[in-house]
Amino acid sequence: MRGASTDVAIIGGGLIGVWTAFFLARRGQRVVLFERDVVGAQSSGTNFGNLRLQGRFPGQYPLALRSHELWEDFEALIGEGCEFARTGHLYCAFDAAEQARLEAYAQVSQQHGVVIERLEQPELRKRFPWLGGRAVAATYSPRDATANPRLATPAVARAARRLGVEIRENARVTAVARHGAGFVVTTADGTELGCGALVNAAGAWAVEMAECFGETAPVFAAGPPQFVTEPLPFVMAPSLQTIDGSVIARQTERGNVILAGYPRTAADAVGNRAPVPPAKTLAAMRALAGLVPALAHGHVIRVWSGIEGYLPDMIPVIGRSETTPWLFHAFGFCGHGFQIGPGVGHYLSDMIVDGADPPPLAPFSIARFRTSATISDKFHKEFDDRPDKGNRALSARPS
Ligand SMILES: Cc1cc2nc3c(=O)[nH]c(=O)nc-3n(C[C@H](O)[C@H](O)[C@H](O)COP(=O)(O)OP(=O)(O)OC[C@H]3O[C@@H](n4cnc5c(N)ncnc54)[C@H](O)[C@@H]3O)c2cc1C
Repeated sequence: MRGASTDVAIIGGGLIGVWTAFFLARRGQRVVLFERDVVGAQSSGTNFGNLRLQGRFPGQYPLALRSHELWEDFEALIGEGCEFARTGHLYCAFDAAEQARLEAYAQVSQQHGVVIERLEQPELRKRFPWLGGRAVAATYSPRDATANPRLATPAVARAARRLGVEIRENARVTAVARHGAGFVVTTADGTELGCGALVNAAGAWAVEMAECFGETAPVFAAGPPQFVTEPLPFVMAPSLQTIDGSVIARQTERGNVILAGYPRTAADAVGNRAPVPPAKTLAAMRALAGLVPALAHGHVIRVWSGIEGYLPDMIPVIGRSETTPWLFHAFGFCGHGFQIGPGVGHYLSDMIVDGADPPPLAPFSIARFRTSATISDKFHKEFDDRPDKGNRALSARPS
């Protein structure tokens, strides 16, 4: 191929793509990022905004903690804010069995240096008087935070541009192929670009790119429905969650309450649709009213969801390709990608520039789908009715 070339091309202008571009540019790489829409148009711009540390998959803590430091430094690093707020996160249990599960989470979090406070009634009610009587116990993580997803991705993209990254929006990648020791990337308008390394950060659409290089993973598209109420009197400072998943809520300073309706709903990545079943809106408000009676009379004014890539073990694929040198994947973030996005960009840029294998990325290799990736309990709980579930999960394994 003759013509334009760059060191690294990135497919996908979500949070993962823009953070990776930002850190690569800081390491002196020439980077071109392709986004078929505008940056942050998909799950990175539509998510709930939780930066939760407690209750994570144990192998994810080194990545989550590094990411949290970067969120805490966001304004200094990026040059503008994203409504980052250290709200704390309150995880509630309705009975003794749930309290035991919270305790198990708390112990793992603490092993990784996360401060967890344990609260039981009546102290819980005294500390958070807006909680009704249903929650018997809770764990509180004061360092957990929230940020505004609408602001974060475009802000990181602007900072990357200032470092010299070329961001091509409305530029859908239609073909990727090996060319010499590197790659050639073709967009819908027929433009070609050569690159030495290629990052596949195409979200729920990333497997199409991986499959161009004889590699796959059992990704499927889903998203949790989201609801926002009219502004209500401000009562709830921490982000709130019940361990049974019936309530995930936070209140903005303006008073609007944002809720997430679990279990997640299947999304249509081909048709670009993420439906919100009306019954979920009513169920989410009912569950919130049961936990925070002061918010019982709020009206939901808008609903939405997003299209995100999920994998059956409910952890992402991050790292080098198993088939193709200089190809790197970062997709299938299973609902955690907002929190860990900065760390993914940071460690992936080290992997690309230094040829290193950063230990925090070790659990996320795509290689696990060639051997014995486990199916998570969460997957069974939320997605058991998916007709294609088992087949797709198994199809990525060797016969
Ligand atoms: C409703 C919802 C709520 C969530 N809540 C939270 C939360 O509270 N906390 C948390 O940590 N995580 C949350 N998540 C998860 C988080 O939003 C995602 O994990 C994260 O945004 C994934 O980022 P990404 O860059 O991989 O994907 P995306 O944001 O989907 O970006 C991928 C990009 O690739 C582009 N693309 C695809 N194909 C091509 C192509 N061929 N050419 C060019 N561009 C292409 C797409 O247009 C898209 O913009 C939530 C997700 C959803 C949907």
